Amino acid sequence: MTLDALQRPLRSLRISVTDRCNMRCRYCMPEDSYSWLPRASILTFEETERLARIAVSLGVDKLRVTGGEPLLRHDLPDLVAMLRSIAGVRDLAMTTNGILLAPRAAALRRAGLRRVTISLDTLRAERMASFARSPRHADVLAGIEAASGAGFESVKLNSVIIRGYNDDELEALLEFARRQRAEMRFIEYMDVGGATDWAMTQVVSQREILERLGERYGAIEALREHDWAPAERFRLPDGTVFGVIASTTAPFCRTCDRSRLTADGTLYTCLYADTGLDLRDPLRLGASDEELARLIADRWSGRTDRGAELRAASPGRGVLYQVETLRADPRKEMHTRGG
Ligand code: SAM
Ligand code: SF4
Ligand code: SF4
Repeated sequence: MTLDALQRPLRSLRISVTDRCNMRCRYCMPEDSYSWLPRASILTFEETERLARIAVSLGVDKLRVTGGEPLLRHDLPDLVAMLRSIAGVRDLAMTTNGILLAPRAAALRRAGLRRVTISLDTLRAERMASFARSPRHADVLAGIEAASGAGFESVKLNSVIIRGYNDDELEALLEFARRQRAEMRFIEYMDVGGATDWAMTQVVSQREILERLGERYGAIEALREHDWAPAERFRLPDGTVFGVIASTTAPFCRTCDRSRLTADGTLYTCLYADTGLDLRDPLRLGASDEELARLIADRWSGRTDRGAELRAASPGRGVLYQVETLRADPRKEMHTRGG
Protein backbone atom coordinates (compact mmCIF):
# COMPACT_ATOMS: atom_id res chain seq x y z
CA MET A 1 0.00 0.00 0.00
CA THR A 2 1.28 3.48 -0.86
CA LEU A 3 0.30 6.10 1.73
CA ASP A 4 0.38 9.86 1.31
CA ALA A 5 1.54 12.39 3.90
CA LEU A 6 -1.94 12.29 5.51
CA GLN A 7 -1.97 8.46 5.60
CA ARG A 8 -4.39 8.15 2.70
CA PRO A 9 -3.76 5.10 0.49
CA LEU A 10 -3.48 5.32 -3.29
CA ARG A 11 -6.40 3.15 -4.34
CA SER A 12 -8.18 4.78 -7.23
CA LEU A 13 -7.05 5.98 -10.66
CA ARG A 14 -9.32 7.95 -12.98
CA ILE A 15 -8.08 7.75 -16.53
CA SER A 16 -9.10 10.52 -18.89
CA VAL A 17 -8.80 9.14 -22.41
CA THR A 18 -9.52 12.42 -24.23
CA ASP A 19 -9.96 16.10 -23.44
CA ARG A 20 -12.47 16.48 -26.29
CA CYS A 21 -16.21 16.49 -25.72
CA ASN A 22 -19.39 16.47 -27.78
CA MET A 23 -21.23 18.56 -25.17
CA ARG A 24 -20.61 21.97 -23.68
CA CYS A 25 -22.10 21.80 -20.18
CA ARG A 26 -22.16 25.28 -18.75
CA TYR A 27 -20.59 24.18 -15.46
CA CYS A 28 -17.67 22.50 -17.24
CA MET A 29 -17.10 23.97 -20.73
CA PRO A 30 -18.90 27.32 -20.93
CA GLU A 31 -16.42 29.04 -23.25
CA ASP A 32 -16.69 29.41 -27.03
CA SER A 33 -13.23 28.03 -27.70
CA TYR A 34 -10.64 25.88 -25.96
CA SER A 35 -6.93 25.02 -26.11
CA TRP A 36 -6.73 21.29 -26.74
CA LEU A 37 -3.98 18.87 -25.84
CA PRO A 38 -1.83 18.26 -28.94
CA ARG A 39 -2.83 15.03 -30.72
CA ALA A 40 0.70 13.62 -30.61
CA SER A 41 0.72 13.95 -26.82
CA ILE A 42 -2.34 11.71 -26.33
CA LEU A 43 -1.32 8.34 -24.91
CA THR A 44 -1.94 5.21 -26.95
CA PHE A 45 -4.00 2.50 -25.27
CA GLU A 46 -0.78 0.50 -24.76
CA GLU A 47 0.80 3.45 -22.94
CA THR A 48 -2.32 3.99 -20.85
CA GLU A 49 -2.51 0.32 -19.91
CA ARG A 50 1.14 0.31 -18.89
CA LEU A 51 0.72 3.30 -16.56
CA ALA A 52 -2.47 1.79 -15.13
CA ARG A 53 -0.67 -1.51 -14.50
CA ILE A 54 2.14 0.30 -12.70
CA ALA A 55 -0.40 2.21 -10.58
CA VAL A 56 -2.06 -1.11 -9.72
CA SER A 57 1.31 -2.46 -8.57
CA LEU A 58 1.33 0.43 -6.05
CA GLY A 59 -2.05 -0.45 -4.58
CA VAL A 60 -4.66 0.95 -6.99
CA ASP A 61 -7.57 -1.45 -7.38
CA LYS A 62 -10.25 0.84 -8.80
CA LEU A 63 -10.03 2.23 -12.32
CA ARG A 64 -12.47 4.64 -13.90
CA VAL A 65 -12.35 5.63 -17.56
CA THR A 66 -13.48 9.20 -18.16
CA GLY A 67 -12.77 12.29 -20.26
CA GLY A 68 -13.78 14.75 -21.86
CA GLU A 69 -16.17 12.30 -23.39
CA PRO A 70 -14.52 8.87 -23.28
CA LEU A 71 -16.75 7.38 -25.99
CA LEU A 72 -15.19 9.76 -28.51
CA ARG A 73 -12.39 7.17 -28.52
CA HIS A 74 -14.13 4.79 -30.91
CA ASP A 75 -12.26 1.65 -29.94
CA LEU A 76 -12.80 2.16 -26.21
CA PRO A 77 -13.89 -1.47 -25.62
CA ASP A 78 -10.31 -2.45 -26.60
CA LEU A 79 -8.90 -0.33 -23.78
CA VAL A 80 -11.49 -1.72 -21.36
CA ALA A 81 -10.42 -5.25 -22.27
CA MET A 82 -6.77 -4.34 -21.68
CA LEU A 83 -7.53 -2.75 -18.30
CA ARG A 84 -9.70 -5.62 -17.11
CA SER A 85 -6.85 -8.06 -17.69
CA ILE A 86 -4.56 -6.27 -15.22
CA ALA A 87 -4.31 -8.58 -12.21
CA GLY A 88 -5.45 -6.79 -9.06
CA VAL A 89 -8.14 -4.58 -10.61
CA ARG A 90 -11.24 -5.02 -8.46
CA ASP A 91 -13.42 -2.36 -10.03
CA LEU A 92 -13.57 -1.00 -13.57
CA ALA A 93 -16.04 1.79 -14.28
CA MET A 94 -16.69 4.57 -16.78
CA THR A 95 -18.24 8.03 -16.60
CA THR A 96 -19.90 9.21 -19.82
CA ASN A 97 -22.41 11.77 -21.01
CA GLY A 98 -24.26 8.90 -22.68
CA ILE A 99 -24.67 10.40 -26.16
CA LEU A 100 -22.69 7.61 -27.87
CA LEU A 101 -23.48 4.87 -25.35
CA ALA A 102 -26.49 3.06 -26.84
CA PRO A 103 -24.62 1.32 -29.68
CA ARG A 104 -21.61 0.54 -27.48
CA ALA A 105 -23.05 -0.53 -24.12
CA ALA A 106 -23.12 -4.25 -24.90
CA ALA A 107 -19.57 -4.28 -26.33
CA LEU A 108 -18.25 -2.42 -23.28
CA ARG A 109 -19.93 -4.88 -20.95
CA ARG A 110 -18.53 -7.82 -22.92
CA ALA A 111 -15.06 -6.25 -22.78
CA GLY A 112 -15.25 -6.29 -18.98
CA LEU A 113 -16.59 -2.88 -17.92
CA ARG A 114 -18.32 -3.50 -14.60
CA ARG A 115 -20.11 -0.26 -13.78
CA VAL A 116 -21.21 2.81 -15.67
CA THR A 117 -22.11 6.32 -14.56
CA ILE A 118 -24.06 8.48 -16.98
CA SER A 119 -24.42 12.22 -16.60
CA LEU A 120 -28.02 13.37 -16.85
CA ASP A 121 -28.73 16.88 -15.62
CA THR A 122 -32.22 17.31 -16.99
CA LEU A 123 -35.14 15.34 -18.34
CA ARG A 124 -36.04 18.20 -20.68
CA ALA A 125 -34.43 18.16 -24.11
CA GLU A 126 -34.80 21.92 -24.54
CA ARG A 127 -32.93 22.53 -21.30
CA MET A 128 -30.04 20.37 -22.39
CA ALA A 129 -29.97 22.18 -25.74
CA SER A 130 -29.53 25.55 -24.09
CA PHE A 131 -27.48 24.50 -21.06
CA ALA A 132 -25.13 22.00 -22.67
CA ARG A 133 -25.43 23.08 -26.29
CA SER A 134 -26.41 19.62 -27.43
CA PRO A 135 -29.59 18.57 -29.25
CA ARG A 136 -28.95 14.88 -28.46
CA HIS A 137 -31.05 14.38 -25.35
CA ALA A 138 -32.85 11.42 -26.92
CA ASP A 139 -29.50 9.71 -27.50
CA VAL A 140 -28.60 10.14 -23.83
CA LEU A 141 -31.90 8.55 -22.79
CA ALA A 142 -31.29 5.70 -25.26
CA GLY A 143 -27.81 5.28 -23.77
CA ILE A 144 -29.27 4.96 -20.27
CA GLU A 145 -31.82 2.44 -21.50
CA ALA A 146 -29.11 0.40 -23.24
CA ALA A 147 -26.89 0.49 -20.15
CA SER A 148 -29.79 -0.69 -17.97
CA GLY A 149 -30.26 -3.68 -20.26
CA ALA A 150 -26.58 -4.56 -20.75
CA GLY A 151 -26.03 -6.32 -17.42
CA PHE A 152 -23.63 -3.91 -15.72
CA GLU A 153 -23.12 -4.44 -11.98
CA SER A 154 -24.43 -0.93 -11.46
CA VAL A 155 -25.73 1.99 -13.46
CA LYS A 156 -25.62 5.39 -11.80
CA LEU A 157 -26.92 8.72 -13.01
CA ASN A 158 -25.04 11.91 -12.09
CA SER A 159 -26.78 15.30 -11.97
CA VAL A 160 -24.98 18.51 -11.15
CA ILE A 161 -27.70 20.56 -9.48
CA ILE A 162 -27.64 24.26 -10.30
CA ARG A 163 -30.00 26.81 -8.83
CA GLY A 164 -32.28 28.28 -11.44
CA TYR A 165 -31.44 25.60 -13.97
CA ASN A 166 -32.44 22.13 -12.85
CA ASP A 167 -33.14 22.38 -9.11
CA ASP A 168 -36.84 21.99 -9.91
CA GLU A 169 -36.13 18.49 -11.29
CA LEU A 170 -34.79 16.75 -8.16
CA GLU A 171 -37.88 14.62 -7.71
CA ALA A 172 -38.37 13.93 -11.43
CA LEU A 173 -34.74 12.82 -11.80
CA LEU A 174 -35.00 10.58 -8.76
CA GLU A 175 -38.14 8.94 -10.06
CA PHE A 176 -36.69 8.55 -13.55
CA ALA A 177 -33.62 6.80 -12.07
CA ARG A 178 -35.83 4.49 -10.03
CA ARG A 179 -37.77 3.47 -13.15
CA GLN A 180 -34.46 2.70 -14.89
CA ARG A 181 -33.25 0.72 -11.83
CA ALA A 182 -30.31 3.15 -11.69
CA GLU A 183 -29.00 4.98 -8.63
CA MET A 184 -29.33 8.75 -8.72
CA ARG A 185 -26.48 10.91 -7.48
CA PHE A 186 -26.90 14.62 -7.02
CA ILE A 187 -23.65 16.58 -7.25
CA GLU A 188 -23.06 20.01 -5.81
CA TYR A 189 -21.84 22.56 -8.35
CA MET A 190 -18.07 22.78 -7.83
CA ASP A 191 -15.74 25.71 -8.39
CA VAL A 192 -13.25 23.56 -10.29
CA GLY A 193 -11.09 24.75 -13.16
CA GLY A 194 -13.31 25.22 -16.20
CA ALA A 195 -16.32 26.39 -14.17
CA THR A 196 -15.77 30.00 -15.18
CA ASP A 197 -19.41 30.93 -14.51
CA TRP A 198 -19.40 29.49 -10.98
CA ALA A 199 -21.08 31.43 -8.17
CA MET A 200 -21.90 30.26 -4.64
CA THR A 201 -25.46 31.52 -5.11
CA GLN A 202 -25.99 28.82 -7.76
CA VAL A 203 -24.84 25.98 -5.53
CA VAL A 204 -27.66 23.85 -4.14
CA SER A 205 -26.20 22.30 -1.01
CA GLN A 206 -26.55 18.71 0.14
CA ARG A 207 -28.56 20.03 3.08
CA GLU A 208 -31.01 21.82 0.84
CA ILE A 209 -31.35 18.79 -1.44
CA LEU A 210 -32.13 16.54 1.54
CA GLU A 211 -34.61 19.05 2.98
CA ARG A 212 -36.43 19.29 -0.32
CA LEU A 213 -36.62 15.53 -0.79
CA GLY A 214 -37.59 15.04 2.86
CA GLU A 215 -40.55 17.38 2.43
CA ARG A 216 -41.71 15.44 -0.59
CA TYR A 217 -41.03 11.84 0.46
CA GLY A 218 -40.80 11.80 4.26
CA ALA A 219 -37.92 11.01 6.61
CA ILE A 220 -34.64 10.25 4.82
CA GLU A 221 -32.27 7.77 6.38
CA ALA A 222 -28.51 8.28 6.03
CA LEU A 223 -26.81 4.99 5.22
CA ARG A 224 -23.74 4.50 7.36
CA GLU A 225 -21.06 3.18 5.10
CA HIS A 226 -17.40 2.95 5.77
CA ASP A 227 -15.83 3.10 2.41
CA TRP A 228 -13.89 5.80 0.65
CA ALA A 229 -16.49 6.71 -1.93
CA PRO A 230 -17.21 10.41 -2.36
CA ALA A 231 -21.01 10.07 -2.38
CA GLU A 232 -22.93 9.87 0.85
CA ARG A 233 -25.87 7.58 0.35
CA PHE A 234 -29.40 7.95 1.64
CA ARG A 235 -32.66 5.99 1.64
CA LEU A 236 -36.20 7.24 1.16
CA PRO A 237 -39.01 5.63 3.18
CA ASP A 238 -39.98 3.58 0.10
CA GLY A 239 -36.48 2.07 -0.05
CA THR A 240 -35.10 4.15 -2.93
CA VAL A 241 -31.38 4.73 -2.42
CA PHE A 242 -29.63 7.80 -3.82
CA GLY A 243 -26.37 9.64 -3.28
CA VAL A 244 -25.29 13.23 -2.80
CA ILE A 245 -21.75 14.40 -3.52
CA ALA A 246 -21.23 17.42 -1.30
CA SER A 247 -17.79 18.42 -2.58
CA THR A 248 -18.54 22.12 -2.29
CA THR A 249 -20.21 22.51 1.11
CA ALA A 250 -19.01 19.37 2.95
CA PRO A 251 -15.85 18.09 1.26
CA PHE A 252 -14.37 14.67 1.94
CA CYS A 253 -10.65 15.20 1.31
CA ARG A 254 -9.65 13.34 4.46
CA THR A 255 -10.67 10.04 2.90
CA CYS A 256 -9.61 10.82 -0.66
CA ASP A 257 -7.74 7.94 -2.31
CA ARG A 258 -8.08 9.22 -5.88
CA SER A 259 -5.49 10.05 -8.48
CA ARG A 260 -6.10 11.24 -12.02
CA LEU A 261 -4.27 10.66 -15.27
CA THR A 262 -4.90 13.09 -18.14
CA ALA A 263 -5.05 11.86 -21.73
CA ASP A 264 -1.51 13.17 -22.26
CA GLY A 265 -0.11 11.22 -19.32
CA THR A 266 0.02 13.82 -16.56
CA LEU A 267 -0.76 12.53 -13.08
CA TYR A 268 -2.74 14.72 -10.67
CA THR A 269 -3.25 13.91 -7.02
CA CYS A 270 -6.17 16.34 -6.59
CA LEU A 271 -8.92 17.83 -8.74
CA TYR A 272 -7.75 21.24 -7.56
CA ALA A 273 -3.98 20.64 -7.78
CA ASP A 274 -2.08 23.39 -9.54
CA THR A 275 0.50 21.13 -11.12
CA GLY A 276 0.78 17.49 -12.12
CA LEU A 277 3.51 14.96 -12.71
CA ASP A 278 4.48 14.33 -16.33
CA LEU A 279 4.72 10.60 -16.93
CA ARG A 280 4.58 10.75 -20.73
CA ASP A 281 8.11 12.01 -21.29
CA PRO A 282 9.80 9.43 -19.07
CA LEU A 283 7.54 6.74 -20.55
CA ARG A 284 8.43 7.68 -24.13
CA LEU A 285 12.09 8.17 -23.29
CA GLY A 286 12.37 4.57 -22.16
CA ALA A 287 11.91 4.58 -18.36
CA SER A 288 11.49 1.12 -16.85
CA ASP A 289 8.35 0.04 -14.95
CA GLU A 290 10.32 0.36 -11.71
CA GLU A 291 11.40 3.91 -12.55
CA LEU A 292 7.85 4.95 -13.41
CA ALA A 293 6.54 3.28 -10.24
CA ARG A 294 9.10 5.20 -8.19
CA LEU A 295 7.99 8.51 -9.76
CA ILE A 296 4.33 7.82 -8.93
CA ALA A 297 5.06 6.50 -5.42
CA ASP A 298 7.26 9.52 -4.59
CA ARG A 299 4.58 11.92 -5.77
CA TRP A 300 1.88 10.13 -3.77
CA SER A 301 4.03 9.87 -0.62
CA GLY A 302 4.47 13.65 -0.56
CA ARG A 303 0.77 14.33 -1.17
CA THR A 304 -0.90 16.77 1.21
CA ASP A 305 -3.79 17.80 -1.10
CA ARG A 306 -7.05 18.92 0.47
CA GLY A 307 -8.21 21.11 -2.40
CA ALA A 308 -11.96 21.18 -1.76
CA GLU A 309 -11.53 21.66 1.99
CA LEU A 310 -9.22 24.60 1.44
CA ARG A 311 -11.65 26.11 -1.06
CA ALA A 312 -14.50 25.67 1.41
CA ALA A 313 -12.49 27.54 4.04
CA SER A 314 -11.48 30.40 1.73
CA PRO A 315 -13.34 33.66 2.34
CA GLY A 316 -15.18 35.31 -0.56
CA ARG A 317 -15.03 32.12 -2.59
CA GLY A 318 -15.31 32.79 -6.34
CA VAL A 319 -14.19 31.40 -9.70
CA LEU A 320 -11.00 29.33 -9.34
CA TYR A 321 -9.21 30.26 -12.57
CA GLN A 322 -9.71 33.01 -15.11
CA VAL A 323 -10.05 31.99 -18.76
CA GLU A 324 -6.51 33.14 -19.66
CA THR A 325 -5.03 30.80 -17.03
CA LEU A 326 -7.04 27.89 -18.41
CA ARG A 327 -6.00 28.69 -21.98
CA ALA A 328 -2.34 28.70 -20.92
CA ASP A 329 -2.68 25.34 -19.14
CA PRO A 330 -5.65 23.27 -20.37
CA ARG A 331 -4.79 20.57 -17.82
CA LYS A 332 -6.39 22.80 -15.20
CA GLU A 333 -9.76 22.16 -16.89
CA MET A 334 -12.20 19.68 -15.38
CA HIS A 335 -12.82 18.23 -18.85
CA THR A 336 -9.08 17.48 -19.15
CA ARG A 337 -8.65 16.23 -15.60
CA GLY A 338 -11.59 13.89 -15.88
CA GLY A 339 -13.95 14.82 -13.01
N1 SAM B 1 -18.03 13.69 -20.17
C1 SAM B 1 -18.30 12.71 -19.19
C2 SAM B 1 -19.51 13.07 -18.37
O1 SAM B 1 -19.92 14.24 -18.39
O2 SAM B 1 -20.04 12.20 -17.70
C3 SAM B 1 -17.13 12.42 -18.27
C4 SAM B 1 -16.24 13.57 -17.86
S1 SAM B 1 -17.04 14.81 -16.84
C5 SAM B 1 -15.74 15.97 -16.59
C6 SAM B 1 -17.15 13.93 -15.29
C7 SAM B 1 -18.12 14.50 -14.30
O3 SAM B 1 -17.69 15.78 -13.89
C8 SAM B 1 -19.54 14.65 -14.81
O4 SAM B 1 -20.42 13.85 -14.04
C9 SAM B 1 -19.82 16.11 -14.61
O5 SAM B 1 -21.14 16.34 -14.25
C10 SAM B 1 -18.84 16.49 -13.53
N2 SAM B 1 -18.55 17.93 -13.49
C11 SAM B 1 -17.98 18.70 -14.45
N3 SAM B 1 -17.89 20.00 -14.05
C12 SAM B 1 -18.42 20.05 -12.80
C13 SAM B 1 -18.63 21.10 -11.85
N4 SAM B 1 -18.30 22.35 -12.11
N5 SAM B 1 -19.20 20.77 -10.66
C14 SAM B 1 -19.54 19.48 -10.39
N6 SAM B 1 -19.37 18.46 -11.24
C15 SAM B 1 -18.83 18.74 -12.44
FE1 SF4 C 1 -20.27 17.98 -19.89
FE2 SF4 C 1 -18.68 15.86 -19.36
FE3 SF4 C 1 -18.37 17.24 -21.57
FE4 SF4 C 1 -17.74 18.35 -19.26
S1 SF4 C 1 -16.74 16.62 -20.17
S2 SF4 C 1 -18.84 19.33 -20.97
S3 SF4 C 1 -19.31 17.45 -17.94
S4 SF4 C 1 -20.20 16.10 -21.00
FE1 SF4 D 1 -9.57 14.50 -3.20
FE2 SF4 D 1 -8.68 16.87 -3.96
FE3 SF4 D 1 -11.27 16.21 -4.29
FE4 SF4 D 1 -10.24 16.69 -1.83
S1 SF4 D 1 -10.46 18.14 -3.52
S2 SF4 D 1 -11.61 15.01 -2.42
S3 SF4 D 1 -8.18 15.83 -2.06
S4 SF4 D 1 -9.50 15.27 -5.30
